[in-house]
Amino acid sequence: MQEKHPSTRAIRQQMPSTEYREHSTPLFLTSSFTFPSAEAMADTFAGRGEGIIYSRYNNPNVDELIAKACSLEGTEAGFATASGMSAVFASLAALVEQGDHIVATRAVFGSTHQILSQILPKWGVTYTYVEPDQPETWADAVTDRTRVFVTETPSNPGLQLVDLEQAGTFCRKHGITFIVDNCFATPYLQRPADYGADLITHSATKWMDGQGRVLGGLLLGRAEIMEKVIFFCRHTGPAMSPFNAWVISKSLETLAIRMDAHCRSAMTMAEWLVDQPGVESVHYPFLASHPQHDLARKQMRAGGGIVTFELKGGAAAASRLLNQAQLCTRSSNLGDTRTILTHPATTTHSKLSPEERAAVGITDGLVRMSVGLEAVADIQADLQDGLQ
Ligand SMILES: *Cc1c(COP(=O)(O)O)cnc(C)c1O
Repeated sequence: MQEKHPSTRAIRQQMPSTEYREHSTPLFLTSSFTFPSAEAMADTFAGRGEGIIYSRYNNPNVDELIAKACSLEGTEAGFATASGMSAVFASLAALVEQGDHIVATRAVFGSTHQILSQILPKWGVTYTYVEPDQPETWADAVTDRTRVFVTETPSNPGLQLVDLEQAGTFCRKHGITFIVDNCFATPYLQRPADYGADLITHSATKWMDGQGRVLGGLLLGRAEIMEKVIFFCRHTGPAMSPFNAWVISKSLETLAIRMDAHCRSAMTMAEWLVDQPGVESVHYPFLASHPQHDLARKQMRAGGGIVTFELKGGAAAASRLLNQAQLCTRSSNLGDTRTILTHPATTTHSKLSPEERAAVGITDGLVRMSVGLEAVADIQADLQDGLQ
């Protein structure tokens, strides 16, 4: 299967069929599995047998999703978690020791910032932020206790990019584990493992599910790193539900065509927003005006489904735009078939101080749009009045 095209693997990489010879993967809603004998059970517990023990460890639906996601990301091993944040937390908790230090690019997801600044310090783990677009300064932050480099590209919601090739070189040079949150790009648009990423985290809630139904997270990486991560997850219990795994695995069958359509519409929306009178600036990686446009073209297949834009009228204009929308929905999710508008300053990033928001480019007039699969003309018609 590995030599086939990724779109083919996303469809054809399925768990073995059962005695019923079903075509589509069935749902295995069972917390545990049985054994033909006491000896077979003992063998499986000792790691010698083939059997599945318990759904906190493994489950056929979850295993299918992991195998498919590994194949798409080009990684050796994986674990599926209940949400994107449990994946991010497990990646760090499994790999750092008391007193260790983390280097992270400043524009990380809001809850990742809370883990770094409020939760890990309880165990003496410290962190330093570096600027995503200034790799020449990253080495200044490294100490003899630095164990991991955490990054996100494109970032949520600022759409700042990190040069994955330079990040890979930096991590190898300093002997630190390279972790990438690849949620915004998905493995269809960008594969961090090709640049030496050791561990990739996903919020599968977003583009992977793609239809706003279930929460999920993925941890995908090198076998040696994943051994520690899987040990941590098996015994702390953030396992993904088999139902959610079944939904997300099904959705990956259409990831490529969905992302092509989201990216096409997002590019059209970005170009259209530039010409709207109430819009101060538009951020989209594949717009020539994006400060890292060349890097985007180098490491991403297309610009992704998120467009952010700044309104001339600040917070009042943002609330007017969100309130007048009839078709586009006000919600905090992203990566849905439905176009979603979010005002980060008062919602997803309201827990950050005004200074912290300013440092990652979240102004009061900034709106994040997750471009859905409705006809672009209908999305434009819905926003037109609010953008005057
Ligand atoms: C949403 C998101 C997360 C968190 O994922 P959940 O599934 O909501 O826990 C992490 N990183 C990024 C970039 C996200 O957009």
